[in-house]
Amino acid sequence: MMNDCIFCKIIKGEIPSAKVYEDDKVYAFLDIMPVNPGHTLVIPKKHSENIFDTDDGDLKAIAVALKKVSIAVKKGVKADGINIGQGNGRAAGQAVFHLHFHIMPRFENDGLEMFPQKKYREGEMQQVAGKIKSFL
Ligand code: AMP
Ligand code: ZN
Repeated sequence: MMNDCIFCKIIKGEIPSAKVYEDDKVYAFLDIMPVNPGHTLVIPKKHSENIFDTDDGDLKAIAVALKKVSIAVKKGVKADGINIGQGNGRAAGQAVFHLHFHIMPRFENDGLEMFPQKKYREGEMQQVAGKIKSFL
């Protein structure tokens, strides 16, 4: 439920957060359990569950904030690189159902692994692309 949403409570100041950025549409604060120090969450002020239901205008504002905050995080913790990631749905590892983007500082040889990748079978790639395009 939106009323019980922990990130809505953070925006309202009902739960404390280490805020790093805010504008009329976007709020950004440090993740309480970072993959590396400086790990930041960027969220829309207006509640949406995830990428599937969020407002286009909010998403555009988030994209611009992601650039601004990523540059500040990179400088602030002297990171060598930044990963931006987010999950949509339980199967994708989403635990908090208020849209959020993770800005994750990376350091050379920090030991973090990316997702393992696979190969397509013969012809499968075009078939999958066709299915996706049918919904666009
Ligand atoms: P996800 O698994 O993508 O839904 O990520 C949720 C993230 O929210 C996790 O990385 C948590 O560490 C983070 N988180 C949960 N509660 C808080 C909180 N009160 N303040 C800051 N970050 C939080
Ligand atoms: Zn919310």
